[in-house]
Amino acid sequence: MITSALLAAVPGIQHGFGTASALVPEPLQAAWELRPAKRQVHGTRSVRITAMQQAAGEADAFYTSASGIPVSVITADCVPLLMARRDGAMVAALHAGWRGLYAGIIGQFWHGLRERGERPSDWVAAIGPTICAACYEVSEELAQDFLRRYAALPSATILPSERHLDLRALAQHELERAGLGGFEHVGGCTCCARGADGALTFRSYRRGDRNSQQHAGVLRL
Ligand SMILES: [Zn+2]
Repeated sequence: MITSALLAAVPGIQHGFGTASALVPEPLQAAWELRPAKRQVHGTRSVRITAMQQAAGEADAFYTSASGIPVSVITADCVPLLMARRDGAMVAALHAGWRGLYAGIIGQFWHGLRERGERPSDWVAAIGPTICAACYEVSEELAQDFLRRYAALPSATILPSERHLDLRALAQHELERAGLGGFEHVGGCTCCARGADGALTFRSYRRGDRNSQQHAGVLRL
């Protein structure tokens, strides 16, 4: 299990990012069956979770102030974001692959929460295990699309090397732009990170784990 010191400092919540050896973080397995029913579609829709096993439909971001109900996202290369208000009153999980980032899911999520009266500066976030730029080669067309989409950023931030897209850096940029109170990167690359024993730490869609279960990033109050 991968954890974040920033989230661990939030009172009254449990969190963790799964690994290949425990796809759902162990401390959250007991509550796992209470999670919302949802389908992640690389979109920008977010859903407020108020009931156990809520039918959340097609969505990629989930937030709740209900105690005991886990919010989660399933990833194997995309960016999993776990976020919490520093007082522990609300938590959120968000899935952002290149499609979601390009469509602006993080900015739209925070636009929605600000309209509900939330202040991003009261929140902290953990950017979980994500494919690294070295492992993530994309087409020239997509690389150019991202350079245009993020024209205000240095190209080396978006593409540290030619056609290698840095999803983590883009997620960080979006969190900074949203005005979050704090964030950190945790876990390594889903494609190339290995443990002390040499075994691969995570599952990776890019590496070829296409038909197997992927890991969960989970938060609960
Ligand atoms: Zn890598």
